[in-house]
Amino acid sequence: MKALISIDYTNDFVADEGHLTAGKPAQAIEIAMYELTKKFINNQDAVFFTIDLHDLNDNYHPESKLFPLHNLRDTSGRLLYGKLGAYYQEIKSLNNVFWLDKRHYSAFSGTDLDIRLRERRITDLTICGVLTDICVLHTAIDAYNLGYQITIPKSAVASLSESAKLFALEHFKQVLGAKVID
Ligand code: ZN
Repeated sequence: MKALISIDYTNDFVADEGHLTAGKPAQAIEIAMYELTKKFINNQDAVFFTIDLHDLNDNYHPESKLFPLHNLRDTSGRLLYGKLGAYYQEIKSLNNVFWLDKRHYSAFSGTDLDIRLRERRITDLTICGVLTDICVLHTAIDAYNLGYQITIPKSAVASLSESAKLFALEHFKQVLGAKVID
């Protein structure tokens, strides 16, 4: 069984006016994100939207010192971007679609993602979204440590720079044994 883990494709990380935006490279994967999601939905595979959630004045959070505020609770910055956002509205009530709030880079950190995957006997994860070298990478590392098979579609991940993306793609392949596909 397989699942799509869709990471942080929100207005704050993607839109021009986003608070921590990767801008053009992230916007360039909009259609690929949408098409990939549609493929999993049409195959009746599980799709997990694992989305960064922050609160104001969370001084104990390490990201407070590292990044400007982003993905704040109940803001439009946390909504999924563009075509994927519109498609999510159509599919969100399906029983194979999940929304999991996360506080850290990895989709496994502090969430019940691993339990939900194991309940469904899901062993193969396709991980997409942003940023390739931060949240996608940290999620892939946890998935590797938990024994999942990993696939990374390179047209559906994005980084701020091409060199950061290439580093992460090499790491997925050479160190985590992931399948990196087009
Ligand atoms: Zn964050």
